[in-house]
Amino acid sequence: MEKMIKEGKIFCKIYSDKKISRELPVFYNPAMKTNRDVTVELLRVQKRNNLQIADVLAASGIRSIRMIKELPAKKIKTVLINDCSENAVKLIKENLKINKLNLGKNNKITISCNDANKALLDGNGFDYIDIDPFGSPNPFIDSAVKRLARDGILAVTATDTSALAGTFENACRRKYWAKPMRNELMHEIGIRILIRKVQLIASQYEKALTPLLSYSTQHYMRVFFVCEKGKEKADAINNLHKYVLYCTNCMQIQTDNLNKIECCNKQMQYAGPCWVGELNQKKMVQHILDNVMRNKMYKEEKELQKLLQAIKEESCVSTVGFYDIHMLVKRNNLKNIPKFDFIIKACKQRGFDAVRTHFDEYAIKSNISAKMLISILKELN
Ligand code: SAH
Repeated sequence: MEKMIKEGKIFCKIYSDKKISRELPVFYNPAMKTNRDVTVELLRVQKRNNLQIADVLAASGIRSIRMIKELPAKKIKTVLINDCSENAVKLIKENLKINKLNLGKNNKITISCNDANKALLDGNGFDYIDIDPFGSPNPFIDSAVKRLARDGILAVTATDTSALAGTFENACRRKYWAKPMRNELMHEIGIRILIRKVQLIASQYEKALTPLLSYSTQHYMRVFFVCEKGKEKADAINNLHKYVLYCTNCMQIQTDNLNKIECCNKQMQYAGPCWVGELNQKKMVQHILDNVMRNKMYKEEKELQKLLQAIKEESCVSTVGFYDIHMLVKRNNLKNIPKFDFIIKACKQRGFDAVRTHFDEYAIKSNISAKMLISILKELN
């Protein structure tokens, strides 16, 4: 069924069905609105103007049209809107018209109906590339990093979260070249595995990709990277690819170049290699959050606000992993789950950082040891 919707500042014709699936004539997922909101707002806070943008898996074109209509005109020099489906390209053209973006007069916009890799490789280079597929971004990463300009931004969505989060370990190894971890840490480890895979492909071309913003939701993972060029810079990125080790007894987490380490007199469980550096650039997330909170358009967007607030808070702590408090309480046969504010305060009083995390609502991210955290939980019981 065809339908007209409003998203952000634009109107868009889309196809809808009871079930969102790739069987639709052109794909549109309302649950990805937050993904598109974050995209527009991340571009808004970039100091640079005149961006050459490539949206090569565009479907209805909604993402590009939002960028064009919602960002200041000087921000964008050109936008390539591409999809391999003829139905999609037809719809993109209609949606441009609906939003009064006349192709003839507007030489900013190019539309093409190509394979995404060809669309990228035919270009001269882009300052912003969005890889937002249905499923794994894998088939498009190589072309994207090849055509990513110096200081350019690459955005990657993965909706095959079950591979990254370890439902099928071999699928993760095949597709993302690392061992996942099937426990409470699975989404954080999954996104770190995805980050490393993209960084490795970029490092072949002596490009260093640093995450600017990374998050995971129920349906997808999303990472924005900024690109620098140079062998040393690429090496520095690769030096932060390590294993994450987890003690199944005390729940202690650590990172190491080795994957065989003991804790509580037994071998720790391991995942990786994966990116163990920062997931977010704190100042940038703060800036995005400030803009979103100020913008009337996002007044009712509680999901977006909550997500950005959580990412902002956790970007203050750079440790890998977190402690699931409910599990720690249960594992140690404690009666009560203390208030999170009290636990965080107690960690801070002992000189450690502690914050909540968007990866797990029952968890605390902290550089405190598991043993010390357990003693705090005991004290608070
Ligand atoms: N980015 C869109 C959603 C994209 S869905 C949004 O924000 O709404 C994925 C789209 O990729 C589909 O429209 C599909 O036709 C297109 N696609 C799949 N494989 C492709 C390929 N190899 N090259 C170009 N487009 C492709």
